[in-house]
Amino acid sequence: MALIPDDTIAEIRTKADIVAIIGQHVQLRKAGRNWKGLCPFHGEKTPSFNVSPDKGFFYCFGCQKKGDAFTFVMEYEGKSFHEAAETLAALTGVTLPIVEDSPALRRARSERAQMLEVNKIAAAFFRDVLGDPARGAAGRAYLDGRRIDAAQEERFQLGYAPGDWHALADHLAAQRVDLEIAVKVGLIVRQPRAGGFYDRFRDRLVCPVIVPGGEVVGFSARIVGDAVGRDGTPVAKYINSPESAVYKKSKLLYGLAQARESFRSKGRAVLVEGNFDVISMHQAGFTETVAPLGTALTTEQVEQLRRLADRVVLFYDGDRAGYQATVSALSMFLAAELPAHIATAPGRAGGGGAGMLRDGADPDSLASGGADSHERLAEMIGRARPGLEFLAYEVWPLARTPEQRARAVDDAAKLLAKVANPTERDLITGTLATAMQLDPGVVQRALARATGRSGAGAGPSSGRGYAHPNAPGGDASAGHSSDRGGAPVPDGPPPPTEELDLLALLADHPGLGATSEESGVLSLLTDERLRDMYSASRAGQSLVELAPQRLSTPSAQAVLSARFAKHPDPARLLDQMVANLRLRQGRLETAELQRRLADAQRRGDTDLARRLASQIVTTRKQVD
Ligand SMILES: [Zn+2]
Repeated sequence: MALIPDDTIAEIRTKADIVAIIGQHVQLRKAGRNWKGLCPFHGEKTPSFNVSPDKGFFYCFGCQKKGDAFTFVMEYEGKSFHEAAETLAALTGVTLPIVEDSPALRRARSERAQMLEVNKIAAAFFRDVLGDPARGAAGRAYLDGRRIDAAQEERFQLGYAPGDWHALADHLAAQRVDLEIAVKVGLIVRQPRAGGFYDRFRDRLVCPVIVPGGEVVGFSARIVGDAVGRDGTPVAKYINSPESAVYKKSKLLYGLAQARESFRSKGRAVLVEGNFDVISMHQAGFTETVAPLGTALTTEQVEQLRRLADRVVLFYDGDRAGYQATVSALSMFLAAELPAHIATAPGRAGGGGAGMLRDGADPDSLASGGADSHERLAEMIGRARPGLEFLAYEVWPLARTPEQRARAVDDAAKLLAKVANPTERDLITGTLATAMQLDPGVVQRALARATGRSGAGAGPSSGRGYAHPNAPGGDASAGHSSDRGGAPVPDGPPPPTEELDLLALLADHPGLGATSEESGVLSLLTDERLRDMYSASRAGQSLVELAPQRLSTPSAQAVLSARFAKHPDPARLLDQMVANLRLRQGRLETAELQRRLADAQRRGDTDLARRLASQIVTTRKQVD
């Protein structure tokens, strides 16, 4: 490993603009001499993360995390010290001493750094091909068809993957790239029998996924020709990079690197569904537009938006799927308390609660249209209304058949249940009942069902809804106790304390959800109710809401106690809890094996006894 001289480190530290570096991931606001924002290391709703440009230091009063620019890049971007030094040197214009490029040094670089390097080489290759009049013709024709101009092509670093099967594999081999790394990031595939490698992206327009900071973490590639293969079977319209150490799609937003600056200047983020929606929107001047990468919106993406933008405008397609995606996204934004608006179409002719935009209108076709379309687009985004209000006035009242109306009321109740402020919830309930010409009791009963209470006489003013224990007036133990009515709370022995602890931790720090999933928490929970709650929470529901619905009062209180809310290092606590649960699981397994061993010995089944005895040894080894 190359050593970087101390004075070079010091020079980088002095020149690094810590506010700009952290500002790539957190929207910071000036507060006196310092800057403040929402901590990226622990889930929080009021800023306790401070950055001091004078001292070149950050400090979080919530989780006590602190450090300088190096610490931030290492911890937040998961880099080694050397990689952080490279990143910061590039940002500050400091030259690192040149180190001989030996195979040993290459091996010593982290795999993550090598993956990013391979992606960078591939992105440059795809761009070169697109620029080549002959080889890039199909890609160029596709972009022309979508009226995407050269400026966007450059801004999004678009490229073209040629149709022959080895162009990239050959190029990477010529660049002396470790091809195993290229396999890991999903650029090439090993040929199982013939040996060698072939390209994964072929005949596709390639959109690199670039993160703030400029690294290419993966690719999203769209077919440009027929969506039918040579053998007549359909071909996927999009192929995205597989999950890897650098590409975690649930945490990525397409266009974030290009849009981040505009979140601040425009005071909002616009969220659309697809990559080309993003590109067309940027071209039309809406440079604050991003999209999830080929999946439904995740809680991690919502958290990221919450740290970077003051509000979000949802601008999804006007079809049924777009409506459902909007409702589900809105539910997540309500739970995260990030204001979300819905873009409206002037003179819209929706129907049955499904159409939000005029028939056939989607962000891409509007954005890639002429000046008229752009004007209309500006009006739609500019007149976006708060999500619930928009649906209550504009969409749900259009439901005609009893089924449509019932679905609209249920959707409404699910969203209303997330509204923290009871007065606001009351007002919207009233509005909705009026707009849909319904008895307010119908909406209130649906709301009671959605929040897990029995309906009889339970108006939303006394309803619990979404109340975080830390929210003003949200006293967890009082609010969630005796008034459960007839809601189905499963019986049975109380769940094990250590499992309740883990859910309590996740309730206080929803941001740890993904980490917990990676640690295999689901397989460590033995209580059926907690397993269900955990799965529902990973699907986007709030544990704070689920606990009183699914658990008896004392257990629900254990989850809602907020006792880990102020813990200095929740991530580490999670690790400890997971380790303990693993230990317990090992012990339980051993005990069970011993019981069966005793049984086998009693029956004189020596074969089985021998097998069980050796299994016990293996299990013990795993535990220790
Ligand atoms: Zn923090």
